[in-house]
Amino acid sequence: MSSLIERQLLERAAAVIPGTIYGHQNTSTHWPGAPQFFSRGEGAYIWDVNGKRYIDLLCSYGPILHGHHHPKVEEAVQRQMRLADCQNTPSPLIVDLAERMVSIVEHAQWAMFMKNGTDATTLALTVARAATGRNKILVAEGAYHGAAPWCTPSLHGVAPADRAHLIYYRYNDIASIDQALAEAGNDLAGIIASPFRHDAGLVQELVNPTFARHLRAQCDRNDALLILDEVRCGLRLAFGGSWQPLGVMPDLSAWSKALANGYPLSALLGNARARQAATEVFATGSFWFSAVPMAAALATLQVLEEEDGVARMHRSGSALVAGLLDQARVLGLPASVTGHPTMPYLCFEGEVDREMTTRFAQGCAQRGLYVHPRHNWFVSTAIDEKLLDEVLGITGEVMGGL
Ligand code: PMP
Repeated sequence: MSSLIERQLLERAAAVIPGTIYGHQNTSTHWPGAPQFFSRGEGAYIWDVNGKRYIDLLCSYGPILHGHHHPKVEEAVQRQMRLADCQNTPSPLIVDLAERMVSIVEHAQWAMFMKNGTDATTLALTVARAATGRNKILVAEGAYHGAAPWCTPSLHGVAPADRAHLIYYRYNDIASIDQALAEAGNDLAGIIASPFRHDAGLVQELVNPTFARHLRAQCDRNDALLILDEVRCGLRLAFGGSWQPLGVMPDLSAWSKALANGYPLSALLGNARARQAATEVFATGSFWFSAVPMAAALATLQVLEEEDGVARMHRSGSALVAGLLDQARVLGLPASVTGHPTMPYLCFEGEVDREMTTRFAQGCAQRGLYVHPRHNWFVSTAIDEKLLDEVLGITGEVMGGL
């Protein structure tokens, strides 16, 4: 049951906000009584408006990489806030950050900054079309690339023309790529893919390296651009780009979420091939050049590198996944934990409408652990061994009660 504070807020919101709360942050479908308003975050913890504390394994759907209010990020933010944020021109930090991104991400030779993941994926398509002078883009069925008309999961208010030049393929399915390529003919501008299949509510699927290499080879053969949507995975799977360990380099990559530990920033990175087009397209926004999120990003990257954060998240994510699977096995529960260990998704096989997964998430919330029943979770560098024990203590208890 929601509290009086929560009920009053919901009532006021319903009067003045469409849908009470719109988009992915509406929690009404999570589980009965899921908190709709949070008031505070510190490290690995978040507090709802009732003052209840949770260990956060959703991390604001990805932006929180080092825990809430990481002291080094906050110090950089405060320092920059005292100087300026939104000005007539960018601050010098834009140059520092572009250099930093180019030095970290192997395929990148240039960087542009914007606000949301959707800005970055949408600009990537524009640049691919400008670079090739062609129209068609191959997109994976069911993949999320943002909330613009070309990619939103809802068709309400979307004109057919908004999607006229998209051709859909199935993730990890080489034959479906070749079929889509045949359909595109000589009008192929690019192929967009996420580093692994992380569609909401579904069992997740890591990329088949042969599939990734096939995308690269077909883009080369067709003189088209390969676009990697790093918005969700970026800085969690690998420091130098999610497909760098596979040796598959995209021409363009779209980043956001974890880049600035919660401050609003996204980036489009590209190679030499896409540079001229990136220079020619019209790309800008009133807040795209703000300095504070760039200061946050520089600090976020520094902490990640100094503390070997990617390796640490890999270790704690792998221990989390192993622990969850072990608990389910001992209890004979049909749990599936899929996706990358730093972004795992737990659900139960054979359930209808994620009924058991929903009860699991609800039980975790009651005991002070926040996970999502229809979206992958996120491990942050703030999850240490002690917290991991606490997390597994809670999940074990909840699974026992299922
Ligand atoms: N691409 C992916 C893979 C995402 O996960 C998201 C956000 N969930 C986006 C694009 C869109 O990002 P934003 O919500 O910041 O516009």
